[in-house]
Amino acid sequence: MKNVAVIGAGTMGNGIAHTFAQSGFKVQLIDISEASLKRGIDTISKNLDRMVAKEKITDADKAETLGNITTFTSIPEGVEYASLVVEAATENIDLKLKIFKQLDEACPEDTILASNTSSISITQIAAVTSRPNMVIGMHFMNPVPIMKLVEIIRGYNTSDEVTNTIMELSKQLGKIPTEVNDYPGFVANRILMPMLNEAIETLYNGVAGVEEIDTVMKLGMAHPMGPLQLADFIGLDICLSILNVMYDGFKNPKYAPCPLLVNMVMAGKLGVKSGEGFYDYTESKKAEKIAKQFSK
Ligand code: NAD
Repeated sequence: MKNVAVIGAGTMGNGIAHTFAQSGFKVQLIDISEASLKRGIDTISKNLDRMVAKEKITDADKAETLGNITTFTSIPEGVEYASLVVEAATENIDLKLKIFKQLDEACPEDTILASNTSSISITQIAAVTSRPNMVIGMHFMNPVPIMKLVEIIRGYNTSDEVTNTIMELSKQLGKIPTEVNDYPGFVANRILMPMLNEAIETLYNGVAGVEEIDTVMKLGMAHPMGPLQLADFIGLDICLSILNVMYDGFKNPKYAPCPLLVNMVMAGKLGVKSGEGFYDYTESKKAEKIAKQFSK
């Protein structure tokens, strides 16, 4: 496996492209937005600069990694030679079904199709393709170049062979893959999101302020980031989509998103990526500080 296509150059897509490119894969990074592609490449370049400054890699390594990435603005391009596609587009079921139909038509028969979805059913995504045995969840964690875990989600029809290939490939990237089954939110978000939602509910109920809630969880529970800061870092729109998928999937009110989260997303306050969420990130330094703090 040498050619990997990554769909979406946002928060996750650029990190996934970075990780594959740094491990020597040729990466075709595809996004419908030219601006996202540019921002994605800039982010990869800045993250590589930080690694050069820490003497983890050399300038030549940086140039090689960037040289392994080519960008495209539509799906038929860039996927024709891919052995694997990792989809990391916006967390929206209709969009993902449309993308997987396109990928199924455009990719060679033996291309494995993976989704980085945080919560959407791999089985449902696989059902719109002619190769459900070759569709799998490859759920990287944010920030991708730093976080070791990849949650590997087996859809109802995912074959043993494809699962083993993706488990081995994840190890080749220096990650620790963990296999889980396909139910809403999988394991990571089924446990994480109710906690983030409860932190937002705690704020909404006026029990404490943003800083206070985060301080309690950082100092009291030894979490590297407070839950509100983490929600900002993940993206409040992503948190809302994941909660809605679990709410619909389990028909259980315990996953109902807090009205404050819904309002903030409607108001365009999405966290780090929009410049404001529970915290203000308008000075770009603040976002960088969080990334650094998280990488310690
Ligand atoms: P994001 O909003 O930062 O980026 C999404 C990108 O997808 C945008 O650049 C957008 O232009 C692009 N896009 C939209 N439609 C497209 C299409 N048809 N073809 C190609 N590109 C398209 O989102 P994100 O945070 O990177 O999330 C991406 C996926 O990763 C989601 O499924 C999300 O649930 C999952 N995820 C997110 C996190 C996180 O912490 N943000 C963690 C793990 C998994």
